[in-house]
Amino acid sequence: MASAIKKKGHRAPSHAGEEPPFKKVLIANRGEIALRVILACKELGVQTVAVYSEADRNALHVRFADEEVCIGPAPSAKSYLNIPNLIAAAEITGAEAIHPGYGFLSENAHFQEVCAACGITFIGPNAEIIRRMGNKAEAKATMLAAGVPLMPGSDGLLADLDDAMATAERIGYPVIVKASAGGGGRGMRIVNSPDEMANAFDTARSEAKIAFGDDSVYMEKYLLEPRHIEVQLMGDLFGNIVHLGERECSIQRRHQKLIEESPSAALTPELRQRICDTAVKAAKAVGYYNAGTIEFLLDKRGDFFFMEMNTRVQVEHPVTELVTSIDIVKEQLRIAAGRKLSFTQEDVVQKGHAIECRINAEDPWKFTPCPGRLTALNFPGGPGIRIDSAMHQDAVIPPTYDSMVAKLIAYGATRDEAIARMRRALDTLVIEGIKTTTPLHRRIMDHPDYISGAFSTKWMETFMAERDAERAQAQG
Ligand code: ADP
Repeated sequence: MASAIKKKGHRAPSHAGEEPPFKKVLIANRGEIALRVILACKELGVQTVAVYSEADRNALHVRFADEEVCIGPAPSAKSYLNIPNLIAAAEITGAEAIHPGYGFLSENAHFQEVCAACGITFIGPNAEIIRRMGNKAEAKATMLAAGVPLMPGSDGLLADLDDAMATAERIGYPVIVKASAGGGGRGMRIVNSPDEMANAFDTARSEAKIAFGDDSVYMEKYLLEPRHIEVQLMGDLFGNIVHLGERECSIQRRHQKLIEESPSAALTPELRQRICDTAVKAAKAVGYYNAGTIEFLLDKRGDFFFMEMNTRVQVEHPVTELVTSIDIVKEQLRIAAGRKLSFTQEDVVQKGHAIECRINAEDPWKFTPCPGRLTALNFPGGPGIRIDSAMHQDAVIPPTYDSMVAKLIAYGATRDEAIARMRRALDTLVIEGIKTTTPLHRRIMDHPDYISGAFSTKWMETFMAERDAERAQAQG
């Protein structure tokens, strides 16, 4: 491992009005979220340590941190997931705390324990909470005990194929078999009828074993056209838990979010209140603290069901920041330093509307990754536009990591204004040299279903089919 490099002229200034929560924080991540954490630290007068793999030598998070440490070669297992190297980097730089971002080690209970054993503050909840909520089957059992509505499904894990068949008979097809250790939309299989079960059960288990090293699976009723609604929570070490309203994340492809917004066009004030209150109750049941999200599926009748909890900051947190004017990452740092939440439930007001488009380095219609070197870049600006990205002129997008290269976020007084701003921002976003999903987002922003708010998690399938039919007609 290379030694730490201290830069000149990058010392964090002292922050007026608030004592910095830490002297120095190491960010165990890369890309836009590493940069996002650095920005929060700069505002709070906290010094930063960037870690990077050999593929990220010229990355923006490295440039803007006060210190930098190379933690290994490009593959994540040897760098961003390499716990001994991360801890060594924190020790040689004297970082008091580690922010894990999202992905990588952010929901790794063992990493939290190692940090604690080394006297380093992990910016997130403790290992027990991470473990309990990270195992989806166990999380559901906890939620059941707390009186949170659950989707009809298996009672814990599925023992074998017979159990799977019997459970599906009981709850009714279609059903979904899910990996208990699952995440990122992987390890899930939809089963429409008994003859599909044996195959689905086996593939879900072997996929889970390969992806997560754990082949335990459970079953849920598969809802046909639900909406994905999640609630942002923040809690401190004194038992205060507050919700920051909901996010709508129904525009998805293969169970992966593409567009998120806040507030959701699907909720009445009464339903919003019920979902948010349920999320607070759920978080209280596990003694939750720091930032977390509870995800629900909402059916057409207005019934909602707990799906999972993410014990970290989420990709889509900016939409909540824009409508509540609360800086979630700064608050994470304060909470980790043992401070009380800087706001109460009454202080949280959702004002206006925010939409986020995830810009991925992918072919917009085939969704195949398109890594490469940028040849031109222009980020849009103007009223109501925020961009969270670590891209820069001449940046090289390595094939090794996640394909998300920018989050384009539009804020408006109303949903219509946010959409109008998103359209013109997408029109003036220039990324050349690689393919991105920008044209896909631009098309969605013009679609009557998106504009009216009439969509579910299934909607992208219809949208893609419409587009394919149009293309076939144009060619034929
Ligand atoms: P991951 O942790 O891999 O992201 P989730 O459990 O959060 O997986 O589910 C991701 C997406 O999969 C949801 O947003 C939803 O679109 C779909 N999904 C999951 N469970 C169900 C279900 N029971 N019925 C219908 N869709 C589901």
